[in-house]
Amino acid sequence: MSIQVLEKLQWKHAIGHYVNAWHGGSKPKFPEVYEQLGGNTKEYRAYANRMYRLAHPELRKKWIAKKAVRYQVDEKFRQSLRDAHRKHIQKTKLLVFTHYSESPPKCACCGIRGLDFLTLDHINNDGAKQRLQTLGAKNMGGMHTYSWLKKRGFPQGFQVLCWNCNAAKHINKGTCPHQVRNTRV
Ligand SMILES: [Zn+2]
Ligand SMILES: [Zn+2]
Repeated sequence: MSIQVLEKLQWKHAIGHYVNAWHGGSKPKFPEVYEQLGGNTKEYRAYANRMYRLAHPELRKKWIAKKAVRYQVDEKFRQSLRDAHRKHIQKTKLLVFTHYSESPPKCACCGIRGLDFLTLDHINNDGAKQRLQTLGAKNMGGMHTYSWLKKRGFPQGFQVLCWNCNAAKHINKGTCPHQVRNTRV
């Protein structure tokens, strides 16, 4: 067994003992809370973990530094972070779009489905103004808008449109040509 593996095992062993005490092995670190939350439950472990992190702020710095190094050298790790980030964005987008449309979301004008085809539209055409007011920049859209809406409980004034209808609406001073044609027919 190499020295690195041995060190790792010893480290894991030591940490295991320590964490076990916090979590409630033979002698839990917070016996009262341990009793209250019904033993070594998920809730108790979350509590113990939180306390552990609060008691060891230096570990977070170490952890971040370690991740930063790994990010520099490990392409697989970079890719996994990118994937997780993308998944997170897609999940939030789906949640927000489902709220402003239906499940699965579709364009309010032409009815096309598919998350990648869709975008969020400010019904009153004041998107740039609103973004400036709430986010501090005109060109901050996408994920910033999605999480902003989610945080504020989905305020009114938005609808889901496809990129085509959205662009056409702006070119035609607020009405998609689809709608003009429909009213004429
Ligand atoms: Zn459309
Ligand atoms: Zn349209």
